[in-house]
Amino acid sequence: MNIIDIIIKKKDKKELTDEEIRYVIKNYLDDKIKDYQMSALLMAIVLNGMNEREIITLTKEMANSSDILDMSSLGNNVVDKHSTGGVGDKTTLIITPLVAACGVKVAKMSGKGLGFTGGTIDKLESIPGFKTNLTKEEFIEQINNIGCAITSQTDNIAIADKKIYALRDVTGTVESLPLIASSIMSKKIALGVKKLVLDIKVGNGALIKNRQSAIKLANIMNKIGKSYGIKVVSCITNMNIPLGSSIGNSKEVEEAIEILKGEKENDLTKLCIELSTQMVSLGLDIPEEEARSKVITNLKNKSAYKKFLEFVKYQHGEITKLPQCNKIYQIKANKDGYLTNLSALELGKLSVSLGAGRKSKEDKIDYSVGIELLKSNNELVKKDEVIMNIYSNKEVKDISNNIFSISEEKPETEVLIYDIIK
Ligand code: URA
Repeated sequence: MNIIDIIIKKKDKKELTDEEIRYVIKNYLDDKIKDYQMSALLMAIVLNGMNEREIITLTKEMANSSDILDMSSLGNNVVDKHSTGGVGDKTTLIITPLVAACGVKVAKMSGKGLGFTGGTIDKLESIPGFKTNLTKEEFIEQINNIGCAITSQTDNIAIADKKIYALRDVTGTVESLPLIASSIMSKKIALGVKKLVLDIKVGNGALIKNRQSAIKLANIMNKIGKSYGIKVVSCITNMNIPLGSSIGNSKEVEEAIEILKGEKENDLTKLCIELSTQMVSLGLDIPEEEARSKVITNLKNKSAYKKFLEFVKYQHGEITKLPQCNKIYQIKANKDGYLTNLSALELGKLSVSLGAGRKSKEDKIDYSVGIELLKSNNELVKKDEVIMNIYSNKEVKDISNNIFSISEEKPETEVLIYDIIK
């Protein structure tokens, strides 16, 4: 067997055998298959796809490439949540302490930014001192002690995904249903998760561009979950417009704190309540209405905010020392009208160009930069009113004309949650 034949086979739209998939994962991890060969194969998969059997085998081989964590000592009410990635998506920062405050344990393994979408680990690493690489023992101990923990893909868990994910990020091979499904589900299997809520983002600022593909992805992940005894609830949610009003690592941490403190309420709050409701219902095995009422109570009475502070401190973060960028560029309205087509994709790309994301594997992130939206989609704006502040340490030029438009007619309101598939 050799990698060149396998690449050509996929380029020619043929099915790979289980043995070929196993050969690829094993030899890539042993550095016998080089990054450039793996990139070519990943691109062939992006272009020509994989059938259900190939996806299931790929997931299994990736999950088996490393240790499987035993979380049985944590009991039955442990839940995880995973987003397929979006722009301004800081839900994990809010949901993790909120669900833990409701008495459900949250065991979360998160990733770095991928393409133009942000990553939870980058957001957490914007908090000075925050430790994201917990050992297995530290991870389990923390969940036992305070009810939640977030770690990066450290130790020997899901190492195939870690290596492939970093390569996909810089080779234009992120947007692929088989690669997304195997990446997410291999991590969950390796982590020993038994209850999982997926937030499948769909829209211009997501990796999945249309609702049919999102439903297909939900169905395949639910099917993989079932074969490993994992209960999966998939929420298909809107990512045409960014979530909340901030984009960029420390800016997103600041917004998460505002939501947890009850100082702000927006689409992000609504989505967090819904996702948390699904997690609490799954974790405690209670009806959705009962779960929703628990979630709202623990958000309103600030138990979730207290849990957030406890969690950040436990992982050594100093929340009062978030990095700040003092150079602000304002983008103003050029006429009166309704702000519309506030594009998550364009804002995501702008945020990466400011230094909030990576263009190559070695890039260092500038945690202080980002975008603050002062107006929301569909809001009426006046000529010369500031629509957004751009925090940047570089000169800001060549801003795309496609970031938003201003219309005389009131546009239709965007739907936030399209489907919940159980
Ligand atoms: N999140 C992941 O963990 N993997 C992907 O491929 C996309 C989003």
